[in-house]
Amino acid sequence: MKVMAVNAGSSSLKFQLLDMPSEMVIVSGVVERIGLNDSIFTIKFGDKKNKEITSIPTHNVAVNMLLDKLLNLNILKSLDEIEGVGHRVVHGGEYFSDSVVITDEVVDAINKVSDLAPLHNPANLTGIKAFQEALPNIKAVAVFDTAFHQTMDQVTYMYSVPYEWYTKYGVRKYGFHGTSHKYVSLRAADMLNKKIEDTKVIICHIGNGASLCAVNGGKSIDTSMGFTPLSGIPMGTRSGDIDPAIVQFISQKENKNLDEVIDELNKKSGYLGLSGLSSDSRDLWEAVERGDKKSILAVEKQGKMIADYIGAYYLALGGCDAICFTAGIGENAGETRKLVADRLGALGVKLDFEKNLTRGEETVISTEDSKIKLLLIPTNEEVMIARDTVRLIK
Ligand code: ADP
Repeated sequence: MKVMAVNAGSSSLKFQLLDMPSEMVIVSGVVERIGLNDSIFTIKFGDKKNKEITSIPTHNVAVNMLLDKLLNLNILKSLDEIEGVGHRVVHGGEYFSDSVVITDEVVDAINKVSDLAPLHNPANLTGIKAFQEALPNIKAVAVFDTAFHQTMDQVTYMYSVPYEWYTKYGVRKYGFHGTSHKYVSLRAADMLNKKIEDTKVIICHIGNGASLCAVNGGKSIDTSMGFTPLSGIPMGTRSGDIDPAIVQFISQKENKNLDEVIDELNKKSGYLGLSGLSSDSRDLWEAVERGDKKSILAVEKQGKMIADYIGAYYLALGGCDAICFTAGIGENAGETRKLVADRLGALGVKLDFEKNLTRGEETVISTEDSKIKLLLIPTNEEVMIARDTVRLIK
């Protein structure tokens, strides 16, 4: 059976057509710059790659173009071969603790929580509607970034603020990257040769966006992102945790309104803010090689905060079988993994320097005598979306 996994942004549409249950990728690609005259349509299948620059005014046009290509390139004989479409949706609020078949009520609920994710949920809905119109008879499933974290208990998800902020406006910790954290925790159980119910793992999803998650028996019990993806550890351009009073202070000093200051915390902080150089980990590690002090500070600040969260989650879990590294930096930047591991000596963690040279491949990167295993696990959100789609449309 063939299933399409979709991630729609405001001007982009990423897609992967998978054969299930083999989980083999048939085609993948992305449409970028939707709405502009020079939109880019890229599709990869087998060892071939096809790139076209043309005007793609809407997501509907992008979806129809994709479906036409699947037929014209003989990847599909008929569109009926696609049995389900799974959509990534960023925010499910408290409505969704699992993926769900998309109905009118589900669309209403995604709309209702749109003010919690104003940049993402409306874009995700645009993708859902475009596929609904192009493939009206095919079932679709929504897979939420927040759903995996709905198992956090109240003490964990509540902020210590006026209670009415929660009841009136839904102010609480939601957490993100749930699909990735879930996938990696399942792979970790497999690598540990244990049942998922018997595992305690800490996942470090470190990409441009980054979050940690404490997973007990396959359930998220805490995560570092919060009400929005701004909190937790420093990221490419996001600050991670800061004293919120800084917002008012800078607003007054720099004569900026709250939106502008929050924008700087989202887009001008983290790696970029401290280094003054780049939000990209590769650029920073190059600068570290040259001895650039601010870049050293940027990567060390992130390393310290990752280790601090690991310490807290080790206590929250009551011990831990494995610490897993995933996403762009977690999978590729051995330098960052080493920075973190160097701070975990008190937990008996020992990094194997040779194995830590690995990039993008499932590997145990700790030594035999390390008290907690360190695992490198490439994430795969598309496979999780496809698995949930198959599970729910059957
Ligand atoms: P997101 O999905 O949040 O946009 P990614 O998971 O793609 O982010 O991660 C992007 C980050 O991964 C960038 O900082 C990039 O430099 C880093 N990265 C990717 N490949 C490598 C590599 N080979 N070595 C070091 N860092 C890498």
